[in-house]
Amino acid sequence: MAATLIDGKAIAEVIREEVKTEVIQMKKKGITPKLNVLLVGDDPASVVYARAKEKSCGKVGIEFELKTMSAFSPIGEVLAIIDAWNKEPGVHGIMIEMPLPEGIDKNLVLEAVDPKKDVDGSHPINRGYILSGGEGLFPTTPQSCIELLTRTGLAITGKNAVIVGRGETVGKPLLFMLLKHDATVTVCHSKTADLAYHTKQADIVIVAVGRAKMVTADMIKPGAVVVDAGINFPDGGGICGDVDFDSVKEVAGAISPVPGGVGSLTAVLVQKNLLKAIKLQGLT
Ligand code: NDP
Repeated sequence: MAATLIDGKAIAEVIREEVKTEVIQMKKKGITPKLNVLLVGDDPASVVYARAKEKSCGKVGIEFELKTMSAFSPIGEVLAIIDAWNKEPGVHGIMIEMPLPEGIDKNLVLEAVDPKKDVDGSHPINRGYILSGGEGLFPTTPQSCIELLTRTGLAITGKNAVIVGRGETVGKPLLFMLLKHDATVTVCHSKTADLAYHTKQADIVIVAVGRAKMVTADMIKPGAVVVDAGINFPDGGGICGDVDFDSVKEVAGAISPVPGGVGSLTAVLVQKNLLKAIKLQGLT
């Protein structure tokens, strides 16, 4: 393998230790950070994700509460829970597991969360802060892409960065995060005329599409840094990214694997957001 491996698991451990230390300091000041998660319906993947968050919070001393509701709950009941959590000073962060069941208006639910408790960075006010450079809470997956680069010591300033995918969760917020780090950014999507032309110019390629192994070695400039945010479950079983890791690793200068890359950081970055939320709420 020619490329340096961008080790998400190792970076996650470093961030976890930072979170643990900060939680201890907050507890000394009388604040026990608490994350509340709302799960509406019984989507099996969402149940797994919620339990994973609980386990991860337990490791760093963060209190965790999971509230489950029937998929047939009236919207008023869902909003009432969120309103109660918004008003409860001991609840510092709120996350709504996605996807919500059909018939529940996602925007209505996400906009009901107090922006200062919105640890998922989904509220339109926080989305706005990404553009304006304000102090808000930002989505964890694009944050993870940035952390993987900076904590591996890979420069962003002045680099040509190409994002493949303009989704709301990853590609779009990442554009503004990379601009903030002084990259020159191109965003590609399904209507991009010649994707390989763009990716071949890039010093940094970040892929967030949801198509298994779509980025191949011939699309990458030798020595480029490749970050793979994709998560795919191919028919043969297992999990893979949007990048054809085995071929691209022979060309790239550095590459993040799937699993063990972008996804490894998301749980600890939710916790980082929770600690930031406590500061934004003026509690420290
Ligand atoms: P979306 O479905 O919202 O966006 C996908 C994007 O890919 C769209 O902009 C689409 O273009 C673009 N696209 C589709 N086909 C092509 C193509 N052939 N060439 C170029 N671009 C294409 O996805 P998300 O942003 O929600 O997620 C992207 C990936 O990130 C998924 O694999 C998801 O599983 C993963 N993910 C990973 C997380 C993690 O923790 N690691 C967390 C969240 C997501 P267009 O806009 O034109 O339709």
